[in-house]
Amino acid sequence: MNIDWKTEGDTCVGLLADLLRIDTVNRGTGGEGKDDGHENVAADRLASFLREAGVEVRTFEKVKGRTNLIARVRGTGERAPLLLNAHLDVVEADASAWRRPPFSGDVHEGYLWGRGAVDMKHMAAMSACVLAMLSRDVEGRPKLTRDVVLAAVADEEAGSRLGSLYLVDDHADEVRAEYMLGEVGAFSQHLFGQTFYPLQVSEKGICWVRATFSGEPGHGSMPDPESAVVKLARAVSRLGKKRMPVHPTAAVKRFVSELAEHLPSPQRHVLKRLTLPAAASFILDYAIKDPAQRRSFGAMLSNTASPNVVAGGTKINVIPGSASVEIDGRTLPGQTVDDFLAELRAVMGEDAGLEVVWSLPAVETSPDTAMFRHLADTLRRHHPGAHPVPYMIPGFTDAKAYDRLGTKCYGFAPVRFDPAHTDVVFSKMFHGHDERIPVDGLRWGLRVLYEAVTGAPDR
Ligand SMILES: [Zn+2]
Repeated sequence: MNIDWKTEGDTCVGLLADLLRIDTVNRGTGGEGKDDGHENVAADRLASFLREAGVEVRTFEKVKGRTNLIARVRGTGERAPLLLNAHLDVVEADASAWRRPPFSGDVHEGYLWGRGAVDMKHMAAMSACVLAMLSRDVEGRPKLTRDVVLAAVADEEAGSRLGSLYLVDDHADEVRAEYMLGEVGAFSQHLFGQTFYPLQVSEKGICWVRATFSGEPGHGSMPDPESAVVKLARAVSRLGKKRMPVHPTAAVKRFVSELAEHLPSPQRHVLKRLTLPAAASFILDYAIKDPAQRRSFGAMLSNTASPNVVAGGTKINVIPGSASVEIDGRTLPGQTVDDFLAELRAVMGEDAGLEVVWSLPAVETSPDTAMFRHLADTLRRHHPGAHPVPYMIPGFTDAKAYDRLGTKCYGFAPVRFDPAHTDVVFSKMFHGHDERIPVDGLRWGLRVLYEAVTGAPDR
């Protein structure tokens, strides 16, 4: 095929630099968020790029300025569409902690710098370039059997209610698809001399809970060891120390066993036992030395509960009658809200009044599909010797929304990192200081994404 990848790559780097210069910080926590995001500016830039290339574009807003862009290149319609998803909003960036301004879009040291470089304006830029290329006739390229749709959405960083969840609720036909490719996956990760490409097949559910404790109100001059605040403090302390029960899911078992297979001994033997419920706690406590790795594996194996907002009395000399803590709970696939509340109660005690503030179920897509095999093969072809592995993320992505329409969702926003630069790895870039993407790794990602889309299986 006569594709000039140097030119296409330059276009993609330029488009991403433009997007990184647009401040789309989303400070919201999930509500109306009128003054957040300003995704309309980034959506306008994408829309003009796509329209110039002859691609159909439509936009949708639940709240003014919080724009969602839908672009579509039509196939023959024999198969249901393939959806590419990227959120346009980003998390805050503390400029004083960065080496380059967070909205510079500068190329420096071989990297393109800016908040959103890997989370995830790179996917917006690559996807827009792929659609622009598809709208052109390329000699020898087979006809698309599916529509290829790009959803560049608002508000993911605050829970997607003005973005993908709104599209799914109010404009389902715009985003209906058999498969969605989006966060989080297809970034290279280096471990013991091996390269892995995690592909998200699963993400945990959300169960935000307010736990309230009651006690006798009274005068602060006569302390009460059973006061609401003291009970709350004891319960929070237990929650901080205790690991919740281990429930290894099929996806996590597969991730751990495929990871272990490619590691040297003794890491291989230790890791293989991680998904045995009787051994998991011991391995997490004693065999995994790196605290970040321990927390990451721990979150894959159990429901988790992080106590984050504490509220008690209002006056220093008054013992309050109640005190509460808001807990960010994350649930594994297969675990219900009631299962989670029972585990929480077992740790916090019977006197904790538990009220669910918000919940969403976990998402899981089988990796046993023609599409998953195709994505893994595409990565292996572009990076011989590397190992694509299905995995579960503990966090939240737009997959939560598309899963409601029965779409099979995979994390596939390809980027290749340089193993020699150990300080620039995906996990540190994601919401971290000095977020940046290797320019060569982005060019590589564009080719991988193009082939993933144009070679997508018919079954
Ligand atoms: Zn993201």
